[in-house]
Amino acid sequence: MNKLSISDLDLKSKRVFIRVDFNVPLEGGAVSDDTRVKASLPTIRYAVEQGARVILASHLGRPKGAVNPKYSLRPVAACLSGLMDKPVAFAEDCIGEQAEAAVAALSDGDVLLLENLRFHAEEEKNGENFSRALAKLCDVYVNDAFGTAHRAHASTVGITRFVEKAAAGFLMQKELEYLGRALYNPDHPFVVILGGAKVSDKIGVIENLLKSADVLLIGGAMAYTFLKAQGVTVGASLVEDDKLELARQLMEKAKARKVTLELPSDHVVATDMQSGLGKRIVPVAETLPQEAGFDIGPQTIERYRAHIAEAKTIVWNGPMGMFENEHYAEGTRRIAEAVATSSAVSIIGGGDSVAAINQAGLADKVSHVSTGGGASLEFLSGIELPGVKALTDK
Ligand code: AMP
Repeated sequence: MNKLSISDLDLKSKRVFIRVDFNVPLEGGAVSDDTRVKASLPTIRYAVEQGARVILASHLGRPKGAVNPKYSLRPVAACLSGLMDKPVAFAEDCIGEQAEAAVAALSDGDVLLLENLRFHAEEEKNGENFSRALAKLCDVYVNDAFGTAHRAHASTVGITRFVEKAAAGFLMQKELEYLGRALYNPDHPFVVILGGAKVSDKIGVIENLLKSADVLLIGGAMAYTFLKAQGVTVGASLVEDDKLELARQLMEKAKARKVTLELPSDHVVATDMQSGLGKRIVPVAETLPQEAGFDIGPQTIERYRAHIAEAKTIVWNGPMGMFENEHYAEGTRRIAEAVATSSAVSIIGGGDSVAAINQAGLADKVSHVSTGGGASLEFLSGIELPGVKALTDK
């Protein structure tokens, strides 16, 4: 990485502003899933050990620029305090007198969490005054929020113009290292597994990874746009009709680059999605007009698993079917198992594939589970993330 790391900085007695991703689910006034808080701990602990005065800032939900108690970060301060086994102070605003007083009260090694950045509309607008007000709180800026690095907001980009040094935290570094290695220097065979609802969300990733991947395994509803583009009958399955030409072009590009692009040959269909009425497994070409496909079939699973078993690098984004419904969860589960048991460097990104690997209890068996769905997709598309670009060069 050619950007400054938190480990390059002298933090002793410094006011260190760390942009974290504490966008966590809340239930009954408490954090119901602390995965993201835990993911930030290495950076926070390091800053505390170095004697920094730690100021944490994050967004939570979409309060749309207004104060809304439903999106308060206060419960996260309690959660963090429990995980670190030390007090975590809380400021009811992220800028202005309250925040400044709370920062002034910090001693070396203390931790303060600021209220939701998005209670101010200027955060998402990357407003200059708001960026200055955030910068005023600190001596050093650290970005550890990979999940929002694809957004040019005040706390990810604006603030960096008004601080002397802006560095990456350990989580940010880990994300960039794993994704960067897959993108620029993968061990081969490099197998990319893509699924989910829409081709349109993943065009950039497909185009960019066609440059380095050896095999592209496509599942989920997005497979039907490719199949239909080949002239295969897909019944009532979800198709993006305005993307058929694009799908054709992508298949041609894959062929020209000698990338193996695999599509489902059999699938699980039903006539009623919710209830699974009329559920059966059929070769895709035998799908009846009233049937829609909601999962990949056993033959496809075996074919995909054979590719995965050969891989040295794996990137997976998007489920193989409507895995939220138990009727159609098998394909995604079997692919998750194959990825988890593979000895390849495996990277999973995107909320649904991460949920699937967690559901299967296999998250600790993959090399890297990305904390940023949108950010990882943009990174893999070859786009330079604004929040990374804004950090100080080494
Ligand atoms: P994405 O956000 O693009 O990764 O898409 C994830 C969503 O795609 C999940 O909610 C899945 O239920 C849905 N999905 C995957 N396969 C299918 C399918 N064959 N038909 C309808 N929806 C699907």
